Amino acid sequence: MVGNKRKTTGKLQFRGRFGKLKSHGRKMIYVKTPGGNTVVQFRKIKPGKAKCASCGAVLKGTARARPFEMQNMPLTMKRPTRPYGGYFCSKCTRDTLVKKTRANLIK
Ligand SMILES: [Zn+2]
Repeated sequence: MVGNKRKTTGKLQFRGRFGKLKSHGRKMIYVKTPGGNTVVQFRKIKPGKAKCASCGAVLKGTARARPFEMQNMPLTMKRPTRPYGGYFCSKCTRDTLVKKTRANLIK
């Protein structure tokens, strides 16, 4: 991770205030500058991927962004527009709908 061609004395250079940035909402990454120094930067962590409530599979077509980005995002970009979209995966949605339909037919 840390480059070999460092002109500094071996210590990593911290840009900005370290203590404030050392939180769980950010991750530390090593960036190599054009001058050859390796610098630590703190980037904001994206939230985890949405998962199916039934089988736990990763949901496709769902947005993965920070909360303030999700607020301004249109609803069609956040989840698929179908019943149980963004909650069940397509396979579990199909199974659920078939089960519900058959249950209503028996009554
Ligand atoms: Zn599922």
